[in-house]
Amino acid sequence: MANTPYPESYYAASANAVPPRPALQDDVETDVCVIGAGYTGLSSALFLLENGFKVTVLEAAKVGFGASGRNGGQIVNSYSRDIDVIERTVGPKQAQLLGQMAFEGGRIIRERVAKYNIQCDLKDGGVFAAITAKQMGHLEAQKRLWERFGHTQLELMDQTRIREVVACDQYVGGMLDMSGGHIHPLNLALGEAAAVESLGGTIYEQSPAVRIERGASPVVHTPKGKVRAKFIIVAGNAYLGNLVPELAAKSMPCGTQVITTAPLGDELASSLLPQDYCVEDCNYLLDYYRLTADKRLVFGGGVVYGARDPANIEAIIRPKMLKAFPQLRDVKIDYAWTGNFLLTLSRLPQVGRLGDNIYYSQGCSGHGVTYTHLAGKVLAEALRGQAERFDAFADLPHYPFPGGQLLRTPFAALGAWYYGLRDKFGY
Ligand SMILES: Cc1cc2nc3c(=O)[nH]c(=O)nc-3n(C[C@H](O)[C@H](O)[C@H](O)COP(=O)(O)OP(=O)(O)OC[C@H]3O[C@@H](n4cnc5c(N)ncnc54)[C@H](O)[C@@H]3O)c2cc1C
Repeated sequence: MANTPYPESYYAASANAVPPRPALQDDVETDVCVIGAGYTGLSSALFLLENGFKVTVLEAAKVGFGASGRNGGQIVNSYSRDIDVIERTVGPKQAQLLGQMAFEGGRIIRERVAKYNIQCDLKDGGVFAAITAKQMGHLEAQKRLWERFGHTQLELMDQTRIREVVACDQYVGGMLDMSGGHIHPLNLALGEAAAVESLGGTIYEQSPAVRIERGASPVVHTPKGKVRAKFIIVAGNAYLGNLVPELAAKSMPCGTQVITTAPLGDELASSLLPQDYCVEDCNYLLDYYRLTADKRLVFGGGVVYGARDPANIEAIIRPKMLKAFPQLRDVKIDYAWTGNFLLTLSRLPQVGRLGDNIYYSQGCSGHGVTYTHLAGKVLAEALRGQAERFDAFADLPHYPFPGGQLLRTPFAALGAWYYGLRDKFGY
């Protein structure tokens, strides 16, 4: 069986040491079989273990192989569509519940890091940067909205103030969220995996779930073994393929690309981002960036609908970086990689249950570092019989992409082209 390695990312190159994790070779029994060792799977496993469940995690490649080990590392609050959209879509009671949860994921990450002593370069402070006056107006409304749901760590920044935190002349203003921040994403996943094992959970790597035998006591098959469980949690997100056809039908994997510079040195690094906050702009097709612990710039952006790997990532992303920071003209790019996230038509996460015992969460559509940590808690609550918060997510309406799996990519690309034009012309 092929041994799938990590992509050649900065994160893989700077990953903390981990123990070897074998592939599943025989038949095992467990309370909960989790499919996928990204944040959704690991967060679910941790909450379940903390509540006395026996947990077995199957990972097709390696812990954090998917988006969780490749992302921009930005801790961003709320969901890919904000609470106001949720309020307009569902009733006030459900919106209230989802709004209260919108800032919980970041707290869970910080609790995990502290409780399990996870070394992942956690830093506080995230900036939303407005390129147009209209975007600034949206940030002002977002601040009022988030404050209505209890968020108290927000500061609006005018053009002079944002220039103090990011040396980029593109922005008319922004909003600083001190409960945002950034992490080394793969090391967070690896630390969470170690925590799972410290509580008696088992993680098998290079063990893809290839078939699920549904029923009262479901069985997950891998190439060389099987897991019989009381419950299954499907957490494969954009890497799941067609294992669960119902889930593949209503979502679309998309690629986004990240580059990492050579170390910039203290002086240049702190001239770009003096307080070491992370930044994302407010465009629909947004750019996001931050410094690493060894003072490189990690810069991401762009979307490839349908998740094809572009041939030359640096050629796509470096011009975006130079537009923000022309002063990096002569800096070498050491790493470039792509990762897949899962887009839903509503851009809200899909959470639910298939039959009595197969649970899933997927499709956070770009912003998932915080949501996935919350999702693990909400899924674990549901397995314990407390389903109020799970139901609030599960009741969100979802639709298949127009045109099904064949035409969803051109339709979504058309939509993105439209939004890209809106970004470009500032309306
Ligand atoms: C390049 C990039 C940058 C991003 N930047 C940010 C950011 O800065 N901030 C933010 O909030 N969000 C960001 N995101 C989104 C965020 O990373 C994801 O929403 C989140 O990590 C999803 O976690 P997950 O556990 O659901 O999925 P994943 O991390 O993708 O994990 C799924 C796992 O399941 C495994 N798997 C799949 N199928 C099977 C199977 N059949 N059997 C066993 N295992 C299986 C995969 O190998 C994988 O390890 C970014 C995403 C990408 C791709």
